[in-house]
Amino acid sequence: MPESIPESLQARIEERLRYYEDLGIRLFYRDRAASGASLATSALTPSQAPSAPIREESSLPRPKSKVMVPVSAEPASRATPVVVPSGPSLFEAVEKVKDDTLVKIREDLGDCTRCKLHKGRNKIVFGDGHPKAELVFVGEGPGADEDAQGLPFVGRAGKLLTQMIEAMGLQRKDVYICNVVKCRPPENRAPEPDEVKTCSPYLLRQIDAIHPKVIVCLGAVAAKTLLETTRGISQFRGEWQEWRGHKLMATYHPAYLLRNPPAKADVWKDLQKVMAELGLQLPKKKSS
Ligand code: SF4
Repeated sequence: MPESIPESLQARIEERLRYYEDLGIRLFYRDRAASGASLATSALTPSQAPSAPIREESSLPRPKSKVMVPVSAEPASRATPVVVPSGPSLFEAVEKVKDDTLVKIREDLGDCTRCKLHKGRNKIVFGDGHPKAELVFVGEGPGADEDAQGLPFVGRAGKLLTQMIEAMGLQRKDVYICNVVKCRPPENRAPEPDEVKTCSPYLLRQIDAIHPKVIVCLGAVAAKTLLETTRGISQFRGEWQEWRGHKLMATYHPAYLLRNPPAKADVWKDLQKVMAELGLQLPKKKSS
């Protein structure tokens, strides 16, 4: 007799299936040997406690490759580099800190009042995830939910980002998620240049400390900040860029996808390239 599925699990499975359908994925294989355990692990394990402390690197292994949904991906060699305008780089003055760690960076940030965004914030949203993640997502800045909880991407857009990560066969705890600015801009406006300039050295140190293989910029602010370009994101979205020795991919922000669901398909194509770059495996076709 088949086991009954708890209602909460059923609701989450249905939500996940709807998300896959949005991405155009409608065929699924059921691995009887693996049973439902892998689904339960990937879909239902909470990605982190709301007040998760920053984890030290030594106790955590790098995430392993997982079996993925069927995809095709273009090789990274088809990159079209973004031309960075001449002039002083935002990151030139940032000194490399020897043996830097996320814990040290958070301590240095302290109860930061370095830019005017500190006036309206409730909590600094430093970042969250695996301290040695191979994949780092960089967004723009905290919104209301993030400001209240002190964690990145926990509102509606964050839920969508979690679905995107899980669609890649990963969990939030496998990746690292942070923003260009760590404090919520008033009225959710875009961060201003002086705020970006003041806060971005900490982002740079975070990325240097994590040393990921791939950085995914979510939205124009993150992409333009890191690449120091004024080009519109639609001109280079989905193309590999080289950034300080890392592979960088810019794609649309999940908040944009909430307003414009058809763009999910574009983002999914971009994420497939990221999966290929990280060596995430394609599924083996099962014989009936
Ligand atoms: S946005 Fe960054 S620089 Fe500005 S107050 Fe917050 S932590 Fe400090």
